Order: sequence, then C-alpha cells, then structure tokens
Amino acid sequence: MWRWSETLPVFEPENQVFLGEGDTPLLLLSTLQKTLGLENLFVKDESSNPTGSFKARGLAAAVSKAKELGVDKVIIPTAGNAGGAMAAYAARAGLKALIFMPKDTPFANIEESRMAGAEVILVDGLISDAAGMAGIKAREEGWFDLSTFKEPYRVEGKKIMGYELAEAFGWTLPDVIVYPTGGGTGLVGMWKAFDELEKLGWLENTKRPRMVSVQAEGCAPVVKAFNNGVSFCDFWTGAHTIASGLRVPKSFADHLILQDIYDSQGTAIAVSDEAILESQGQLARAEGIFAAPEGAATLAALKELISQGWIQKEEKIVLFNTGSGLKYLDYKG
Ligand SMILES: *Cc1c(COP(=O)(O)O)cnc(C)c1O
Repeated sequence: MWRWSETLPVFEPENQVFLGEGDTPLLLLSTLQKTLGLENLFVKDESSNPTGSFKARGLAAAVSKAKELGVDKVIIPTAGNAGGAMAAYAARAGLKALIFMPKDTPFANIEESRMAGAEVILVDGLISDAAGMAGIKAREEGWFDLSTFKEPYRVEGKKIMGYELAEAFGWTLPDVIVYPTGGGTGLVGMWKAFDELEKLGWLENTKRPRMVSVQAEGCAPVVKAFNNGVSFCDFWTGAHTIASGLRVPKSFADHLILQDIYDSQGTAIAVSDEAILESQGQLARAEGIFAAPEGAATLAALKELISQGWIQKEEKIVLFNTGSGLKYLDYKG
C-alpha cells in the first residue's frame, strides 16, 4: 500500500506501520463469467490482506497516522474485522488498543483482537451501541477514536484500492464496481481515488465506473434511501445478517455514500442471507475463492442485476471480496 505513499497522509516513512497490506490480486473469473454469460468479470480479492480482510488497509493508514501524531492509545467500535485489524496494527506500532464489539461478532474477530493484546469489551447490542460506548470512553479518558469516518485516515488507506484497480487495468477504469457496503469507506475512498487520478492526469480516456452498493436484506439502510431517492439514511432497526460487516444500521457517512452512488449512475441492492450462502459456495466451487459472506453478497447482487438487465454482457465488472471466509467459521464439533 505504501507504494502510493505520496498520496497518503503519513509523512515520515518510519511511521508507516506495515504488515503486508495492499497489492491484492485482481482475478479474472473465467469459469463463473461463462456460467453467467459475461465476458469481463473480475474479483478484487482482498482476503490476502493481513488479518484476512480489507480493513487492514484503512487501519494501517489510521494507526500509522496516529503514531505520527504521537497518539499512544486507540479505541474503536467495530462489527468485527476493523477491531481485529486495529489490534494488529496497534500491536505493531506499540499503541494501547481498546475495542467495543457486539457479543455475537464472529469468534475469530474476538480472538485475533485479544491475541494481539487489545482489551475487548463485548457489547449486548449492535455496532451502533458499541459506538456510543466507545465515544463516551474516548471523551472521558482521551483515547484516539478510530470509528469509521470520525477520523479522516481510514478512508485514505481504503482509497488505494482505486489506485490499484486503475493500475491493473492499464490506467483505465472498469464499467461497474460491486461493493459490499457497511460504513462505506471503500466505496467513498475509491470514488475519491478516481477524482485524484483524474486530477493527476493519470487516467487514459476512461469513464468513471457505476458504483453498486450491496447490502443484506436484514440491514439495508443505503438501499432503502437510494430507492427513495434521498440523500441520508434512516437508522435501520433490528439489523440482522450473517454478513457481520454489513450489520451497520446507519453509516456516519451515509450522505457521502449516497452522493457517490448517484454521481456514478450506480445503484444499491439488497440480497438475502440464503442468496449470500449460495453464492459463497458457487464462488468457491467455480473459482476456488472462499469469500467472506460480505464478498459473496456481491456475486448474489450481480446475478440479480443481470436478470434486471442492468448489466451488459461485455461490460468490465469488478466484484469486491472484502475478506476471507475462514474468519467466519465457528467450531460446531
Ligand atoms: C467492514 C467490512 C465491509 C464493509 O466495508 P465498509 O467499508 O465499512 O463499507 C465489507 N466486508 C467485510 C469483510 C468487512 O469487514
């Protein structure tokens, strides 16, 4: 990721906290595209990031900047993977870490955080409840709050996915990006990257992609707002889905997410947990990629968009597999 350090907010190379994040593969899905009647279907496979999800990118940037600013303790409310990533980068940077996560967060997220020395507080509620508690703690005790979009650096790390895509496609952009949306850092970050790339003059004659925001039927505030044509989300009550990273009842950056979808002439679509599981198996059998449920949701959404006629067969489409399916396995001995 730090190959792009000139575009990142960390000034001194010695403050770059590096665990191998970024430079993930862009894989052509040659079997699956035939099955779906498409000609240019890719997955950007983020599962090879440290801690097994793309949260590593954002937290690498944020923890590095915290280190540069002289911060010594960081706090985060999380749906799971952001906590694990923060714990790892904080350990590497020598910072104290405190994490609030729902008590039904995948076991791997709890364990990876504790293993890296973070204090983990399990909350009887959702990420929104965890955020309230973390916010109070941060104010009372002076922790640096790394909540999604409450600091400006995580989105900078995530935007590098946009730079990598442009580079991989020879300084052009794909026609469609299908992105599983929780807090929205990746979607907003990539859109920012495309803007920067245009201003740098690095793009060959290319259009911006249509951005597709994918959510779960059990928690789809962005989809609901998009369908109503409005620019803010209502808080989604009773959020539930196996795709824990999508269990975000209302993003702090809801208006940025919606604005970018509208500007890109994109769309937003919700898929069921059953469709997610079916697509997870299909992706693994057809291509050998064991995606996180959030990543599998993009394939489920793609199939729906094809049947709606929203996608043309020759278009260049990139699905985002944002994490590894391995992180969601529970021992059922
Ligand atoms: C956090 C997360 C998401 C959602 O990402 P945002 O940038 O918050 O929208 C998707 N997939 C996985 C695996 C995640 O951990």
